[in-house]
Amino acid sequence: DPQLSIPWEALRFDERGLIPVIVQDVASGDVLMFAFANRDALVKTVQTGEAHFYSRSRQALWRKGATSGNVQRVARIRYDCDGDCLLYEVEPQGPACHEGTPSCFSGTLWAADASDAPARPPLAVLTLLERVVAQRDRERPEGSYTTYLFEKGLDKILKKVGEEASEVIIAAKNASACELRYEAADLLYHLLVLLRAARISLAAVLEELAERHKPS
Ligand code: AMP
Ligand code: ZN
Ligand code: ZN
Ligand code: ZN
Repeated sequence: DPQLSIPWEALRFDERGLIPVIVQDVASGDVLMFAFANRDALVKTVQTGEAHFYSRSRQALWRKGATSGNVQRVARIRYDCDGDCLLYEVEPQGPACHEGTPSCFSGTLWAADASDAPARPPLAVLTLLERVVAQRDRERPEGSYTTYLFEKGLDKILKKVGEEASEVIIAAKNASACELRYEAADLLYHLLVLLRAARISLAAVLEELAERHKPS
């Protein structure tokens, strides 16, 4: 019974029986939306692995994506130090905002510098790219170069990885930082396509590196 695994005694629902929920993209770290859950929504989320909330305007249980299809697969639910707030870490299947943007937090009220881009760790782009590559493989949209590679098959992908590796070597030999930057990006992208074709996750590769790095 998943209800038994919920630490009810640690959670503080307000007088309406609600608790605030922050929703975060587990791959990028982006904050996607803010909503409320009641006990029922929390149980449903744990039971189904899909984000459920309580809609205050509709006064009803709300499964995110029920009408839009933009379901959020929940990887983990955290609660804060004093138990008055939840964090859903999710794999979004589409935009979180009903206005169609990936995150509800797309407006900038104030910024210390001129940048409007979300503050995300630079490596997050790799996990986001991995997600796009997997989506191209599943849906095979027309006109996509990634679709083209998957349609051609493994030999084509292997050939591209070999070519891009050679181009990295040539760029390094030419001592061209600009060319090397470009070719290294090409190689990483094609490597992600190969990993997808071989059904190996980027996380597994990074774990391998981390294990080697363990202090002995
Ligand atoms: P959905 O859950 O995506 O199928 O959307 C159903 C309805 O829930 C929408 O018409 C909105 O009224 C509301 N809604 C969806 N996403 C959000 C959000 N991120 N913030 C507030 N309301 C939302
Ligand atoms: Zn708190
Ligand atoms: Zn929104
Ligand atoms: Zn290249």
